[in-house]
Amino acid sequence: MQHYQHLIDGSWIEPASGAYFDSEEPFSGKAWARIGRGTEADVDRAVRAAHAAFTSGPWSRMTATERGARLRALADLLEANAERIGLIEQRDNGKLITEVAGQARGAAQWFHYYAGLADKVQGQVVPMPKPGVLNMVKYEPLGVVAAITPWNSPLSLTTWKVAPALAAGNTVVIKPSEFTSASILEFAALCEAAGIPPGVVNVVTGFGAEVGAPLVGHPLVAKVAFTGGDIAGQKVYEAAAADFKKVTLELGGKSPNIVFDDADLDQAVKGAIAGIFGATGQTCMAGSRLLLQDTIHDSFVERLVETVARARIGDPSDPETQIGPIATRPQFEKILSYIEIAKAEGARLVHGGHALSGEGYGQGQFVAPTIFTEVTNGMRIAQEEVFGPVLSVLRFHDEDEAVAIANDVNFGLAAGIWTRDLERALTVSDRVKAGTVWVNNYRATSFATPFGGYKRSGIGREGGTEAIKEYLQPKSIWITP
Ligand code: NAD
Repeated sequence: MQHYQHLIDGSWIEPASGAYFDSEEPFSGKAWARIGRGTEADVDRAVRAAHAAFTSGPWSRMTATERGARLRALADLLEANAERIGLIEQRDNGKLITEVAGQARGAAQWFHYYAGLADKVQGQVVPMPKPGVLNMVKYEPLGVVAAITPWNSPLSLTTWKVAPALAAGNTVVIKPSEFTSASILEFAALCEAAGIPPGVVNVVTGFGAEVGAPLVGHPLVAKVAFTGGDIAGQKVYEAAAADFKKVTLELGGKSPNIVFDDADLDQAVKGAIAGIFGATGQTCMAGSRLLLQDTIHDSFVERLVETVARARIGDPSDPETQIGPIATRPQFEKILSYIEIAKAEGARLVHGGHALSGEGYGQGQFVAPTIFTEVTNGMRIAQEEVFGPVLSVLRFHDEDEAVAIANDVNFGLAAGIWTRDLERALTVSDRVKAGTVWVNNYRATSFATPFGGYKRSGIGREGGTEAIKEYLQPKSIWITP
């Protein structure tokens, strides 16, 4: 069995508690790795190492161009190790074998992008109303960044934080999800091989209460970059407020996928399915509310059910599989409980609605792709994030009603709009309260553009030139003769 310790200050470190916990494969249920169980003492050691690396290590003395070169070397190493790290994520999370290496290559692209930005952080000379006064604005890194990540896309979501944080000149302590730590430790080991000095990237593994909370509370942490659910996100926000730490929060969603009757319906059916059943519904951006115009509602649902019924569900290591297992046991149980809630609320079950077990389903951590119709927006199944393969279908009559339903929710991460009418596409994109809007597509993301949420979906943005600003602060310098 693989054995992982913390990675602190460039060395593998035994947890202070001496304790470990198992990481299990969702499909086989087998424990395959032992992960160090961190505590406050490990957090303190890692944060102090990161702080020393920030205040007096070579990282801070390096030119931004040199930092960029090391990040480029890291990107190349990630690319070279994409298959290996992808397989680790497949074991840990149950992701599809057809997707994992591509995700690791995607992480490499993020490092290439931010490597390029490292030496393009420019200040300003600001014209002043008084002659003879020079005012300059410079952008400085913040210090130690705590990066706390979930289990659904471990490497990608860590990269979204670490790449801009390092490009800006910060140092980091990563706390991966207790369910998926291995790929992050492997990634951190590559940082040193890329010439990133010891102490710049540290990883402490363990549980939210035992590692995440002391990390957020540590006085030497300057900024917390968190991805996870809104409940934990709120706790992190409150804890960070105690000493005014900066935060970015990438939280949950209940994203509307809106199909108008003038849409290319073949594409819209594919988009609706990819939107909710991609990654077995375990994505923050899942299009979990499908809003159908009443004129196409019944025929669209029929096509949806026909297509979903043909999906290949099973072993994620089989390249033919389209829908894999649920990554964790608690998540599996949560999804089943939401199916019961939806039934009790009066939603109409038209497909799935049960667990799958037996031959081809490993240890049985599978939920059949599930579709509810006759959902109204007041129901919990329309308001709360399930984070699984459960689709709520709602009807609307016209554009105003579609927008009203889309926005009548506490989240605002993403939205899809399917129409051939350009004017409608632009109007509805403006009216929908979401950080990302996809028109005639769903789920596109890129390192080159900001991603993040309105309302309970979070604070701040990851991706694009916006994200590097989240890891910098301006300093205004006044010079008089
Ligand atoms: P979670 O909130 O349970 O945990 C996320 C991380 O926070 C884990 O590492 C956990 O150990 C840690 N944590 C928990 N409590 C903490 C605390 N009090 N202080 C500090 N750290 C703490 O989320 P999860 O189940 O791992 O992930 C699923 C959630 O993540 C979903 O809600 C999903 O929508 C969200 N998510 C959001 C995005 C985005 O970009 N907006 C992307 C992926 C996932």
